Amino acid sequence: MSQDIIKINEIFYSIQGESTHAGRPCIFIRTSGCKLRCSWCDTKYSYDEGENYTFEKLLKEIKKFDCNLVELTGGEPLEQNSSFLFLQILLDRGYEVLLETGGHCSLEKVPSKIQKIVDIKCPASLMHKTVDWDNLAFLNSKDELKFVIQDRNDFDWAIDIIKKYSLKGKCNLLFSPVFEVLKNEELAKWICDEAPFARFQMQFHKIIWDSEIRGV
Ligand code: SF4
Repeated sequence: MSQDIIKINEIFYSIQGESTHAGRPCIFIRTSGCKLRCSWCDTKYSYDEGENYTFEKLLKEIKKFDCNLVELTGGEPLEQNSSFLFLQILLDRGYEVLLETGGHCSLEKVPSKIQKIVDIKCPASLMHKTVDWDNLAFLNSKDELKFVIQDRNDFDWAIDIIKKYSLKGKCNLLFSPVFEVLKNEELAKWICDEAPFARFQMQFHKIIWDSEIRGV
């Protein structure tokens, strides 16, 4: 594929539902395609559906929204080589840019000013063996590691990983319950009692709107 073409699943303007930026209006660009198959994936429609956009067309689309915060998400943005260049172009245009990535693709070529939100896949996702641990070397204090927790085993695993790689204080650590599987109260209690260094996060967009609605 040409360097200035990127396959896009959807573009929409909404409230940021996750991360330390939750609650802020944000333009979302969802790329098409992901090699992973997380057991609880809520964007399966992004695996194949999509159309090719030139960078020019994509920039024109997002200019329609009066917002300076943009998130490149997926699917998996970093499975497309053109994403690295597009991230730099967004920075050059003056956007504040978030990247949400599944953690299996190298972050080495991601521009340093991009704020990275990186999944660490826990065992219940069935994708924990895909984590690229070398990526930890590319994180800085404004970046975020997100653990989606389905059960107590995931929580204990996440705590072990944080200890093993000395992640406390390295970047933001987000713990998110699998929607409608792990009770919010349960995870909140575990965090208060055993992981005060972590941030509890919910998917705001699934609370504001119907959880099945796309494009929000
Ligand atoms: S990485 Fe994201 S898009 Fe890919 S399967 Fe997992 S949750 Fe779905």
